[in-house]
Amino acid sequence: MLEDKNQSRTSLSELGEFGLINHITKHFKINHASTVKAVGDDAAVLDASEQQTLVTTDLLIEGVHFDLSYMPLKHLGYKSVMVNLSDVYAMNGNAEQITVSIAVSNRFPLEAIEELYAGIQLACETYNVDLIGGDTTSSTKGILISVTAIGKAAKEDVVYRSGAKDTDLVVVSGDLGAAYLGLQVLEREKQVFQVNPNNQPELDQYTYLIERQLKPEARKDVPKLLKELEVKPTSMIDISDGLSSEIMHICSQSKVGCKIYEEKIPLDPQVISACEEFDIDSTMVALSGGEDYELLFTVSIDDYEKIKGNPHLTVIGHITEQNQGMNLVTRANQEIELKAQGWNALKG
Ligand code: ADP
Ligand code: MG
Repeated sequence: MLEDKNQSRTSLSELGEFGLINHITKHFKINHASTVKAVGDDAAVLDASEQQTLVTTDLLIEGVHFDLSYMPLKHLGYKSVMVNLSDVYAMNGNAEQITVSIAVSNRFPLEAIEELYAGIQLACETYNVDLIGGDTTSSTKGILISVTAIGKAAKEDVVYRSGAKDTDLVVVSGDLGAAYLGLQVLEREKQVFQVNPNNQPELDQYTYLIERQLKPEARKDVPKLLKELEVKPTSMIDISDGLSSEIMHICSQSKVGCKIYEEKIPLDPQVISACEEFDIDSTMVALSGGEDYELLFTVSIDDYEKIKGNPHLTVIGHITEQNQGMNLVTRANQEIELKAQGWNALKG
């Protein structure tokens, strides 16, 4: 475990709460004009401007959302920012600020919190967001981390889940299923390690899968790309729980149906080979795997020429009238109803 392998251990009680807050926040730079006051007062101050403000929060709990035996704290910090930025980009906006709240037990030394914040800082620098505040408290057991992201978009640019129309195309960025398989690989290695700690894992053929699980990247580039292509999605959502459950959110909020084509679902070659090895169906993994943090959106059929052949985007189906239902067209050309299964459906 990470906190055990650290050589130096500074007890959190040596610093005290305010010493700790100062220590972990002092290296963060502020970049946005909209950040009037960041850390250090009773509340941060933001300049609202004429644009609309986007706000989103996620809470991550040790043992429920992550396992520190294979999730290094630096990655945890990075990922907890990514999952929030992804939600802002899914509204077709840009993220400018985050707040970070943590609860830690005294089993964590200062060096562990430094690792966590190194990941948070890397995310802030890479995605150009300002850390503007948070809260720090103790927990009796384990670590909790909650990030709130604040973003902006012009009123006419905001994209909701509810705007999909019959005949719109269904589009996904990147590829699907890798993060779930990365988790399977890490879980398996953990068990092998528990049986024989001398076993060195062979992980070369899984690097992409593991990276997608441990260091996901939010698709900041996609709203920008769409703007350049002069395409405004009619609806959009980020894929945190698997394609199936996300397309169902779009369909139910837009009051439409859909047809998704199995053969069109983008899969990385490592996903295909790992599915063979684990003897699971790659379509099932893409539909129910989760944690891909890609964007799923719909565009008018009139925009097809603008997105056609773009290496970042794949058309996987189209929207239908609501009474047609939500269906997957298999490679054998059979239609089966999509089910709202999160990644839990893959267990067992
Ligand atoms: P208060 O007691 O008024 O809530 P705090 O002492 O909790 O204030 O926080 C002092 C300042 O430090 C505030 O600006 C707060 O947003 C910031 N802060 C506290 N904890 C964190 C943290 N874990 N990460 C980033 N900023 C934090
Ligand atoms: Mg406070």
